[in-house]
Amino acid sequence: MITITAEYLTQNWNILQTSSILPTPLSEWDNGDAYTLASLGQFPSSKIAYAAIVVGDKQVSDFSLVIRLHKQTESVNAECFRAPSGDLYQVTAQIMIDKSYKDTEIKIASLVKDLTRRNQGLIETNLLKDAAVFIIGLGTGGIQIALDLAKAGVGKFKLMDPDRLEVGNISRHHAGISLVGRKKVSAAKDLILEKNPTAEVETYPLSAGHEQREALKELIEKSSVVICATDNRQSKLLINELAVTCRKPIIFGGAFRRAYGGQVFRVIPGSSPCYHCFVLAMPDKEADMEISSQRNADSIAYSDMPVAVEPGLSIDVTPIANMVSKLAIMELIKGKESTLHMLDRDFIAPWYFWINRPEPNTEYATIEPLSESADGLTILRWYGVDLEKDPACPTCGDFEGELRKQYGLVEGDKPSILPLPFSEPGLDKGNK
Ligand SMILES: [Zn+2]
Repeated sequence: MITITAEYLTQNWNILQTSSILPTPLSEWDNGDAYTLASLGQFPSSKIAYAAIVVGDKQVSDFSLVIRLHKQTESVNAECFRAPSGDLYQVTAQIMIDKSYKDTEIKIASLVKDLTRRNQGLIETNLLKDAAVFIIGLGTGGIQIALDLAKAGVGKFKLMDPDRLEVGNISRHHAGISLVGRKKVSAAKDLILEKNPTAEVETYPLSAGHEQREALKELIEKSSVVICATDNRQSKLLINELAVTCRKPIIFGGAFRRAYGGQVFRVIPGSSPCYHCFVLAMPDKEADMEISSQRNADSIAYSDMPVAVEPGLSIDVTPIANMVSKLAIMELIKGKESTLHMLDRDFIAPWYFWINRPEPNTEYATIEPLSESADGLTILRWYGVDLEKDPACPTCGDFEGELRKQYGLVEGDKPSILPLPFSEPGLDKGNK
């Protein structure tokens, strides 16, 4: 079976017209059972065979594979190609076996037509073609979100992650062992292009820290939605602040320790609480996150309480990634016509959580068994929780105004908050 594309023939039509033989590299698979245009995807076979594409009956002897195009005057019930001139060509193929050519099956795929046709009915695919998604963190969750969105037809991606793929990542990560050593953003780009070859993917192998503040702001401004899948608290607060300033929706997704559950937090600047409000309201929930790298564990470790690197299973991260993707799509279709708007009423809460197992020593240790509860808290169900904006939130609220209220000050007063005693030891003296 040989597979090439109509796009390849169109691009090379002038060469075929002038030289009449076009040597074409094909990926050989399964000991010659299948040959696929090597330039089609991001991962060609290590074994390349050359086919001669020929217009007409010109004799060929040096190629093990020959693909022939014969001009037709009327439509035929066979594999065909419509040339840029409008003429119709029947396409046949032959393979050299025991020093003679034998007929073999050939398929002329159309990338754009076949890919979009496959998507129609599931999602109005062109709807998301111009949507730009900025994904920060390409670990187990981040890569799943990227691929789900590529499959849904999202056309533009910006990816940020400083890490490389290691053998230890492979059991959880979508990327396999042959991609070990590559930067996660580069591997993710190739995996996205395997799903959506027409996608535009930009990669930024950088850490989302304060030193990248300006670059992050610029990327957020150019995005339709921001997805934060890092397990680093400082970067989450920074990305939250920048997205609130730029008024861009942002979705945070993360697993709890060893992925016993997870949570998704969506920020719509102006109308919902921000991630900083969430941290202030529920510091224990924010702190109970899975930490997947030693660097991130070190960055939030306290001297008396080391944070362990405890990755959970891929199957336990998948539901969380899935929810992030869904909420991202709901943001991307805002203001556009889509049958998916029937879900608008279901996704009004800012915070969603999910429990994979009744983890001992957590508040979920005693939840009811799944098979015995229709309406109680159980494993494997999403719960949406409403949360109010914190009026004194330093990121999205009026921090100074609330402080003035608290101390009975009027606007314009110089803040009279005393410095902390240890910074100005002299101030304490009078009290003694
Ligand atoms: Zn806030």
